Amino acid sequence: MFEIGARLHFDAAHCLRGYQGKCERLHGHRFEVEAVAAAAELDATGLALDFTILKRLLKAVIDELDHAFLNELPPFQQENASSEVIARYIYQRLAPELPAPARLQSVTVWESPGCWARYSEG
Ligand SMILES: [Zn+2]
Repeated sequence: MFEIGARLHFDAAHCLRGYQGKCERLHGHRFEVEAVAAAAELDATGLALDFTILKRLLKAVIDELDHAFLNELPPFQQENASSEVIARYIYQRLAPELPAPARLQSVTVWESPGCWARYSEG
């Protein structure tokens, strides 16, 4: 199995409803996002998936989150825009976009350099 990853970032604000602590207050992060795609075989050019394709697809999803107040966006109006929920949202948006035979393995979101959350299915 081959795995490749692409990492991009976006800047956004959020606050965690119902959280007891300073994250309840409005604040911002530079969220780092890494998408990992997997493929069992390489194509004729020796690639599992072209990095430029993975980056372009990931960028299209995170551009909608960039410089936003996440709590106001539809995916985060009911659930908090925690790193976990953001990772699942990006995963579910990105997974159907990847060209076969590559498939999305995981999405990891860093809220700060030392803290991340990852979402994957199966
Ligand atoms: Zn936060």
